[in-house]
Amino acid sequence: MGNLLEKYDFKFKKKFGQNFLKDKNILQNIVQKSEIDNDTLVIEIGVGAAALTKFLCKSAKNVLAYEIDETLKPIIKEELKDKDNVEVLFIDFLKSNVKKDIEKYSYSKLYVVANLPYYITTPIIEKIINDNLDVDKIVVMVQKEVGDRFSAKVGSKEYNSLTVFLNYYFDIKKIINVSRNSFVPAPNVDSVVVEMKKTKNKYNVINEELFFKLVRDSFKYKRKNLKNNLKEYNLEIIKEVLSKYNLDLNVRAESLEIEQFVEISNKLNEVM
Ligand code: SAM
Repeated sequence: MGNLLEKYDFKFKKKFGQNFLKDKNILQNIVQKSEIDNDTLVIEIGVGAAALTKFLCKSAKNVLAYEIDETLKPIIKEELKDKDNVEVLFIDFLKSNVKKDIEKYSYSKLYVVANLPYYITTPIIEKIINDNLDVDKIVVMVQKEVGDRFSAKVGSKEYNSLTVFLNYYFDIKKIINVSRNSFVPAPNVDSVVVEMKKTKNKYNVINEELFFKLVRDSFKYKRKNLKNNLKEYNLEIIKEVLSKYNLDLNVRAESLEIEQFVEISNKLNEVM
């Protein structure tokens, strides 16, 4: 990788979160732990110098990869010249139409595996969820603190609406700790690889749209309690559910378990 970066006089761009993974063992470990097989379509976000892409191609049926920085084109082309199961789209992943891009592929499992550009970790994860891609697994390298947020426990300051959504859809675990020295250039933070495996519907949500809206609205203003964040809801019903848990409307969203959001939304749905 180093030689090609020099050959094409590549300049790392901070604004694109370009910290390339140089440790082969970690790259191999990510792919191995992802359990990709030859029926898997892998979406990769942020190809960089194709270090991870090369390993993904070896295990997957197909790899569909996104890269925003066109100056990487010649390097990626050369690195992947003998791979026939990869397509690289040089566009901003956040503006892409992934559903359309994957239409032509046949596969039995859809995974997202990526060493994410950290400046847009949350928008990328939100897009994967909001686009309804029906992914079976997400394996992403993220900044250590963000990894903590994904699996944050109720009541902690990291717990927010994204935590609730992610834990609603996935079983989440941290699988590899990665030192900042495994990257070139080295970032200011350590990293962690997080695995999110789609779960069988654990929660009995009757109206998903209402559930998602309720969770989003509950966390709208972090410092406000439910009474203030949920002004336009039927507060009597919410109060009734909360009282079962010795809570009242002065509680903040960060103190509620997913199950409690589910119960509130199901009760609200009954009277709609
Ligand atoms: N996968 C490579 C690796 O592991 O070495 C590169 C990882 S680097 C942390 C993130 C990559 O994402 C960079 O190559 C960067 O140019 C790319 N990137 C940044 N913003 C992007 C976006 N909006 N859409 C697609 N790629 C993006």
